[in-house]
Amino acid sequence: MSDETYVIGHQQPDTDTICSAIAYAHLKQELGEEVTAARCGEPNPETRFVLDRSDVDAPMRLDDATGKRLILVDHNEYSQTVDGARDAEVVEVIDHHRLGDVESSQPLYVRMEPIGSTASILTKLYDDHDIEIPDSIAGLLLSGLLSDTVVLRSPTTTPTDEEIATRLADQLGVDVESYGKELLQQKSKIGEMSPREMVTGDFKEFDFSGTPVGIGQVETVEPDAVLQQRDAVLDAMQEVRDEQGYVFLTLLVTDLLEEETTALFVGDHQDVFEEALDTTVEDGMAFLPGVMSRKKQVVPPLEDALS
Ligand code: MG
Ligand code: MG
Ligand code: MG
Repeated sequence: MSDETYVIGHQQPDTDTICSAIAYAHLKQELGEEVTAARCGEPNPETRFVLDRSDVDAPMRLDDATGKRLILVDHNEYSQTVDGARDAEVVEVIDHHRLGDVESSQPLYVRMEPIGSTASILTKLYDDHDIEIPDSIAGLLLSGLLSDTVVLRSPTTTPTDEEIATRLADQLGVDVESYGKELLQQKSKIGEMSPREMVTGDFKEFDFSGTPVGIGQVETVEPDAVLQQRDAVLDAMQEVRDEQGYVFLTLLVTDLLEEETTALFVGDHQDVFEEALDTTVEDGMAFLPGVMSRKKQVVPPLEDALS
């Protein structure tokens, strides 16, 4: 095993994953440890906006982690991590998702909390170590937090996230709501995306007791930009499903203003999907009122139903 250590988030990286990797690498360096921030995918338009705004470079790209030491941020499942992770040594996990299947051969540091973002946990880690958060990092942490919690509106949001958002915004002299709106606009630039990009832009793969399932999400203030091209999007979903061998694939088109989701569905076990989410699929489409969070409102019932 080499002694190169990389802090890396999940595939199809989102803003929380990229910003957390950069922030944790910075904190580790402040503590005198040699670690490098990495990513296993291209930053999305929202993340590029955030990096530009904070004048910070994207983490280096790591496509094969074989033989490396890894600190996983914002995920802890092999199905979502960098290629080669099974032949790497996971030395730490910092996350806010369900407990996944990552294994280690040595004792390791794990910090997981049911909280709105990994960025929120990182803010607490800076405090724990009594390290001051520079403004550029504060901007990244605030962005990761507001992106993951849909500006504190997602049901994953906790009072701690609200406190941390206010504190980081105060440090930066920005207003949470108006900066949040700017971020949401970046999230919504989906008009320019191809149907396949809509499907794979924010995509996660799960293994529910041996059933491989793909769940994508588009968070937008203009869901019609996706739903008006429903047939083309369903075709793209079918293509991805065939390539990856998912039993089913769903794309959550989440309306950030109405706080509801329309799920597109392709594949088998439609009855299980309908029952688990208390909905009906018609013409490949199902309405999920009040649903905003894949992690909290969609993954648990599907996992229960399939196990
Ligand atoms: Mg994430
Ligand atoms: Mg996250
Ligand atoms: Mg997300």
